[in-house]
Amino acid sequence: MSESTAAHIDPETAQKVSSAYRSMLDIIGEVEPRVAQATRQELDDQRHSLKLIASENYASLPVLATMGTWFSDKYAEGTIGHRFYAGCQNVDTVESVAAEHARELFGADHAYVQPHSGIDANLTAYWTILSHHVETPGLEEFGARTVNDLTQDDWDTLRRRFNDQRAIGMSLDAGGHLTHGFRPNISGKMFDQRSYGTDPETGYLDYGKVAELAREFKPLVIVAGYSAYPRRVNFAKMREIADEVGAVLMVDMAHFAGLVAGKVFTGDEDPVAHADIVTTTTHKSLRGPRGGMVLTTNEYAGDVDRGCPMVLGGPLGHIMAAKAVALAEARTQAFRDYAQRIADNSKALAEGLMKRGVKLVTDGTDNHINLLDVFSSFGLTGRQAESALLDSGVVTNRNSIPADPNGAWYTSGVRIGTPALTSRGFGPDEFDRVAELIVTALSATTPATTASGKRGKAKYTIADGVAQQVHDAADELLGNFPLYPGLEL
Ligand SMILES: *Cc1c(COP(=O)(O)O)cnc(C)c1O
Repeated sequence: MSESTAAHIDPETAQKVSSAYRSMLDIIGEVEPRVAQATRQELDDQRHSLKLIASENYASLPVLATMGTWFSDKYAEGTIGHRFYAGCQNVDTVESVAAEHARELFGADHAYVQPHSGIDANLTAYWTILSHHVETPGLEEFGARTVNDLTQDDWDTLRRRFNDQRAIGMSLDAGGHLTHGFRPNISGKMFDQRSYGTDPETGYLDYGKVAELAREFKPLVIVAGYSAYPRRVNFAKMREIADEVGAVLMVDMAHFAGLVAGKVFTGDEDPVAHADIVTTTTHKSLRGPRGGMVLTTNEYAGDVDRGCPMVLGGPLGHIMAAKAVALAEARTQAFRDYAQRIADNSKALAEGLMKRGVKLVTDGTDNHINLLDVFSSFGLTGRQAESALLDSGVVTNRNSIPADPNGAWYTSGVRIGTPALTSRGFGPDEFDRVAELIVTALSATTPATTASGKRGKAKYTIADGVAQQVHDAADELLGNFPLYPGLEL
């Protein structure tokens, strides 16, 4: 397979693609010039900032190109070969190819590639588990002939069959995701939820505590996986806990699917080998189109395939086609090398930060995430640090840390990830330089004081010229690693 990534495009291809994109933007501009202009500007902005958002990446040009086609015009509710609409043979082809790649790449019995995003994949998975394990009582159980015979009590009983189901997941401040059963999210209304956290001393996931909670609470579902935890998870241990209490093990690998695909996480760290259901996004470390996916054992295959139209809107043929292309890329040795570089670079970044005095949650990383405790290190809230970094051309996001002293809005942490810049070709030396730039910017930042003389949580000042100096240095570094080299609009 010819390799075309964010960092490598052969010059001849680059020329052809440039003229194709120019023509496309011309015809878009004839209809709505502001959209064409924003599209050009977005490429320019992405080229000139240090993208350290742990959930973002740069898809290859073949993946991006696959998304812009007439597959978008086709309705294809149902599953491969069993559609509610006629004329779906080509959608069948792309969906089958995507599912086949997913099954073989991850070693899963079954792959459902229709979910439109990670959240949709989780919703589909929960619905799958509930429909598989919770029997809906028949009318006869209530002595009713039609629904009109049901009393208010009967309705309450029916509702409780679903609502009383229990789930446990990682707490938000330990790095879990809102869709792992938290109140404001629909998952928190579908399930009675409790969370497990990390050890207050080490910041590592405490499997003993997970087991204790599982024994006491007897959940139907144990959710493992995270968005902001800088360490690996032992899924074999989570499986043991699930088996002991008879729970379904669901792993949300949205963040680290690329490390699973690239065989960096294997054995006890391979979620697909141990879970009943695995959900993921396709656009984070996996480097595909914006979308989601659910992998299941054969036991859940029939239920998950009813995702659309039970909880999902009609499948997006153009996105499933792009998933097929991205998954084909993820099966190559080049992708495995990429995944290993993500992890190596993350370690180099951690070392670069720690040797310059930055406190990291868990004192390091062994995945793609570094979680900086900017409150202990620089006296800044996450919000101030995130903004000061953005002023300096460094794009990150603020994040809670365990037992966060500044709450979930201002936070005390900044989360940074290596997948995107690794796609541009950065190695350990460049990530050491990134660490230096981050420390330069944050050391020069001080919280502004409020009218009453207290330290503010949002406003800040940066010493004269430092933001510009860091921005220029970042741009110089990025200049050596062009994004989509040769693509000129
Ligand atoms: C990003 C993420 C999601 C949500 O993905 P979307 O595609 O934004 O819906 C779900 N779960 C976890 C763990 C994530 O990190």
